[in-house]
This record gives sequence, C-alpha cells and structure tokens, in this order.
Amino acid sequence: MTDKITANKVVTLAYILRDDSGEIIDRSSDGSPLLYLHGAMNIVPGLEEQLEGVAQGETIKATVSPEKGYGPRIGEAQEVPRSLFPGDAELAAGMQVVAHDDQGRQIPFFITGITEETVTVDPNHPLAGETLHFEVTVESLRDATDEEVEHGHPHGAGGHHH
Ligand code: ZN
Repeated sequence: MTDKITANKVVTLAYILRDDSGEIIDRSSDGSPLLYLHGAMNIVPGLEEQLEGVAQGETIKATVSPEKGYGPRIGEAQEVPRSLFPGDAELAAGMQVVAHDDQGRQIPFFITGITEETVTVDPNHPLAGETLHFEVTVESLRDATDEEVEHGHPHGAGGHHH
C-alpha cells in the first residue's frame, strides 16, 4: 500500500512556485527539498489542504488564492528611523520582524529596504495578494516522532534545528 499524506506525517516536497503570468518566483533547489509537518500549518493553508491524501511519488498542481496563501495586501510600506531598532540588530531586506502595538499585540513586518538612517517596512508578506501556482512532487513521507508533533515542526536534515 502506498503511503499517503495525512496529519502528523513529515513530508518532503520538491516544488516550483509560479505567479499568474507563469513566471517562476520560488522553487526548491536540488538536494534541499522542503520538509514540513502535515497538519501543523508549516506551509500555506491552501497548499496543505490540497496535499491531503496525496501519495508518495505523486506530482500535483495546486492553485492557491491569496486568502489561503499569504493573505490579501494590507496597508503600505513605510520608512521608519533606523533608531527604532536595537543598535545591534542585524537587519536585512527580506527579514521578518515583529513589532508590538501599545496593547502588546504582535504586528509582523517585512523589511524591504535599509539605509544608514532608515528602514523600509512593509506589513505585507512579499507574496501577499498573489495567486500562487504550485507544482509539487511528494518525494518522501514518514510518521512524525512524538517530539516533532509536540513541537509542531519536523526535525532533521532540511528541517528545523535546535
Ligand atoms: Zn523542534
């Protein structure tokens, strides 16, 4: 019997991600496939849903709306003084940072630009508002360990280390 993707499986994927125009915007590289724990929201919900029940070795195409991907676009990027960040913070474009509002709620931002004096922060994930077109091959599948289920992510090669 071929193994199929269900909750609490650690799944290894090779993938190509294209935008609406067919342009490749991301892909797994040879030798470093994506490892995730199914059912733990490690990947965008629309892709996770469409991978449910897919067998090892299968390739699927999955189209994911912004609502089930990285969300619709909200608000605009803005420049803020570099001095708002700790002096020793290592900042780089593409990084996600978390600010707190005056009620202590977490507000995630993505850094899109840095100068000596300013940092440009965008509340949108770089792929917010995009319909995502995935082509995904399930390379391997195994049962997650109790520790992985408890942590909500896979351990081991290509996964999360700590
Ligand atoms: Zn862990």
